Amino acid sequence: MPTYHEVLSSGRQKLAAFGEDASLEAQLLLTYVTGVSRSGLLASLSDPCPDDVERRFCEVIDRRLSRYPIQWILGETEFMGRTYQVSEGVLIPRSDTEVVVETACELLDRYDCVIECGFGSGIISIPLALHRPDFLIDAWDIDPSAVALALCNANRHGVTTVRWHLGDFFESSLFIRRLAKTHRVLLVSNPPYIPTADIAELDETVKGFEPHLALDGGSDGLRFYRQLMGLVSSFSNSFGVVLEVGIGQAESVATLMADLPEMNVRFVQDLSGINRVVVGEFTITR
Ligand code: GLN
Repeated sequence: MPTYHEVLSSGRQKLAAFGEDASLEAQLLLTYVTGVSRSGLLASLSDPCPDDVERRFCEVIDRRLSRYPIQWILGETEFMGRTYQVSEGVLIPRSDTEVVVETACELLDRYDCVIECGFGSGIISIPLALHRPDFLIDAWDIDPSAVALALCNANRHGVTTVRWHLGDFFESSLFIRRLAKTHRVLLVSNPPYIPTADIAELDETVKGFEPHLALDGGSDGLRFYRQLMGLVSSFSNSFGVVLEVGIGQAESVATLMADLPEMNVRFVQDLSGINRVVVGEFTITR
């Protein structure tokens, strides 16, 4: 019987051939198969590895070699220090989106409620709800699998103040306009923003498995920003927007916002120094 060390090394070598983050991924996958923690596993590397564990480990390594996302194999991922369930059909949380949440948290005191367009696994609205449990959040997603997943994640984190709406955010514009008449609304969103033609250039794991519905922002990638600005331009009360944008898109999105008079626009950078979030707020209460 091979040792855990031998089994782990063979998995790592296979993954390395594909240029993955081989060592970490092999450890995570063996942890997943055995149910033993990473530290527990590392402490028992010289122990014999049972045949069925080795067989199941080889299966998940093969799955990963097909470029299937590791997060979907593990069934969960970390975002802002919390664990979220992930599943096929819904975009996997990226650390880029942490900037959206941090920025929105800092602004919440100036608003009465939050709306979110396209919530996916719920990783924006859930931390906002945990930060301000006194706020009511209305969040929309067009995909039923996102609703199911976000509900799981809300339950997991004990969040009950988000209303998860299944449907097209823009078809709820009447509801949203009414809300904005009596409330100061903060709109948050990480919309699809990859230009359609660029999807073919994305990493195999992303373009091969993740939902294009959550990635495709139309021919110039700006389709959803245009729609969002069209909607908020009709708000009669004061509001703010916090939008994640793709690399190089911040200026274009700011230009769309410039059509709204009195709007104060600024950018927030991510850890790589990329303008990752565009914030628009009215400087005066209308
Ligand atoms: N950040 C994601 C990616 O580059 C895209 C997310 C989005 O389109 N909102 O894969």
